[in-house]
Amino acid sequence: MAERIDGKQVAEEVVAKVKAAASDLVAETGVTPGLAVVIVGEDPASQVYVSSKSKKAKECGFFSDQHTLPEDTSEADLLALIEKLNADERVHGILVQLPLPGHIDSGKVIQAIAPEKDVDGFHFVNVGKLGTGEIDTAFVPCTPAGSMLLVEKVRGRDLSGLSAVVIGRSNIVGKPMANLLLAANCTVTIAHSRTRDIAALSRTADILVAAVGRPEIVKGDWVKPGATVIDVGINRIPAPEKGEGKSRLVGDVAYDEAAQVAGAITPVPGGVGPMTIAMLMANTLASACRAAGREPPRF
Ligand code: NAP
Repeated sequence: MAERIDGKQVAEEVVAKVKAAASDLVAETGVTPGLAVVIVGEDPASQVYVSSKSKKAKECGFFSDQHTLPEDTSEADLLALIEKLNADERVHGILVQLPLPGHIDSGKVIQAIAPEKDVDGFHFVNVGKLGTGEIDTAFVPCTPAGSMLLVEKVRGRDLSGLSAVVIGRSNIVGKPMANLLLAANCTVTIAHSRTRDIAALSRTADILVAAVGRPEIVKGDWVKPGATVIDVGINRIPAPEKGEGKSRLVGDVAYDEAAQVAGAITPVPGGVGPMTIAMLMANTLASACRAAGREPPRF
C-alpha cells in the first residue's frame, strides 16, 4: 500500500512556521503582515472560502481586512477598492475571491492588483516570473505551490531525472504546477481533454498530478508502480449509502485502486485541499517580508 501523504499535517506545519515568522517580523521591524480579502455577492461556497481565509490570517497574527460587497457592485467601484488596497501600507496581500458576478471582467480586476500584492499569483507579472524561472520573487498560485510542497516531502527538492505528467492545463493549477515541476528538473508532460491515450501516458509518470475536475477519472492501472500521485481534484458526488440526498467528496483519482500501485498518494479530503490556504498565508508573509526588506522564509 502507498504512503498516504497527510496534507493536513503539512499544512499545519506551514501555518506554524508562518505564525512564528510573522511574530519575528513584527518584533524586528514593526511590520505586521496584512491580507485583504474581497468578495462580491453571496455565493455560499465563496463565503465559506473567504471566511476561512480571513480566520486563518487572524490565526497567523496578520492584519485581516475583509470586504464583503453586494452582488450589484459595479466594476468601477471594485477597481476603485483595489486601487485603495494597492496604496494601503497595512495590506501586503490582496485576494479577490473568484468567480465574480458576470457583469464584472475578472481579468481586468486581477490585472489591477499590484503584482507585489498579488498573493494568488494570477497577475501576468507573476505568471511571467514563474514561466521564466524567477520563482524566488514570484507569487506562485497557492494550490500548485502546496501540491509541490507535498511532492517535495516525498521526493526532495531536486527532481532531476524524474518524469512528471500533469493532467489539466488550467492557469490556476495545471500550467503553474507543470512550471514548478520543470523548475525542479522534472521532464514534464501536460495532458488535457484532447490528449490521446492518457492512461498509457500517465503510466510513464514518476510524479502524476491530477487537476481535472472529473470524479475518480484516474484509475489504478493509470499509475506507474511506486509513483507519487497528487490528487488536486475536489468533486462532490451523490452518496446514497449515507442517506437520501447525501453526498461526499472524492478526488480525480480512484484512491483505493491507485493506492495499491503508487508509492505515495494524497487523499481527498485531507491532501492538497488544506495546503492551498496555508500557502496563501505563506505568500502573504513573503510579501510583508519583502516590504520590510527581509528575506522570506522558505517552505
Ligand atoms: P479547470 O479549469 O476546469 O481545468 C480542468 C482541466 O482538465 C482542463 O485543462 C481540461 O482540459 C482537463 N480535462 C477535463 N476533462 C478531461 C478529460 N476527460 N481528460 C483529460 N483532461 C481533462 O479546473 P481547475 O481549476 O484546474 O481544477 C481542477 C480540479 O482541481 C477541480 O476538481 C477543482 O475543484 C480542483 N481544485 C482544487 C483546489 C484545492 O484547493 N485543492 C484548488 C483549485 C482547484 P481542456 O483544457 O482541454 O478543457
